[in-house]
Amino acid sequence: LEGGRYRISKEELDLSDLVKTAYNDFRNRFPDRQFQSEIEPEIDIDGDSLLLQILVNNLIENAIKYSPKEGIITCKLTQKSKTIQFQVQDEGAGIPDDEKKRVFEKFYRIGNETTRTTKGTGLGLYLCKKIVEDHHGHIKVADNLPRGSIFMVSFTVKHAHEQ
Ligand code: ATP
Ligand code: MG
Repeated sequence: LEGGRYRISKEELDLSDLVKTAYNDFRNRFPDRQFQSEIEPEIDIDGDSLLLQILVNNLIENAIKYSPKEGIITCKLTQKSKTIQFQVQDEGAGIPDDEKKRVFEKFYRIGNETTRTTKGTGLGLYLCKKIVEDHHGHIKVADNLPRGSIFMVSFTVKHAHEQ
C-alpha cells in the first residue's frame, strides 16, 4: 500500500484453492471453534491472489472475533453461471440495520469505548470493500437468522463456466 493505493495484479487463479487454504488455516489456528464449509471446486477468477487472501482472511477473522465460542462459522463459495458468490456467516451479535453500510467506512467500529469488548483499527472491512471493488465485485452484510451476520461477496466472471 502506497499512500492508500496499491497496484493490483490480475492473473487467473483458483479461488476455491485460495478459500480452502485460508479456511484450513483458521481451523488449525482455532481448534476450539466450530467451522463449516461449502466450497465448490475449481472456481477460476482473474484477480490478485494476495489481495483476495486479505479479503477472505479479514472476513473469517471478523466472524471469529465477533461471535461466541459456541457459534458456528460457515464459509461458502459457489458459482452459478457468471456469478461467483463468497459468503462468511457467523452466529454472533449481528449488525444493526443502521450500521450495515457504516461498517465498511474507514476506521468505523460499532459502539464506543465503554461498550466495546474487542480491539481493532476499523480498517478490515474498509479494505475488504476496496479489494472487492477493485475486482469489480460487490460486498454487503445481511442478517443470519436467527442470529449473526452474513458477509456476501459477489464477482462476475467474463465467461460462464460450462456446467
Ligand atoms: P481490524 O482493522 O483489526 O479489522 P475491526 O475488526 O474493528 O478492526 P473491521 O473489520 O473493519 O474493523 O470491522 C468494523 C466493525 O464492524 C467492527 O469493529 C465491528 O463492530 C463490526 N463487525 C465486523 N464484522 C462483524 C461481525 N462478523 N459481526 C458483528 N460485527 C462485526
Ligand atoms: Mg476486522
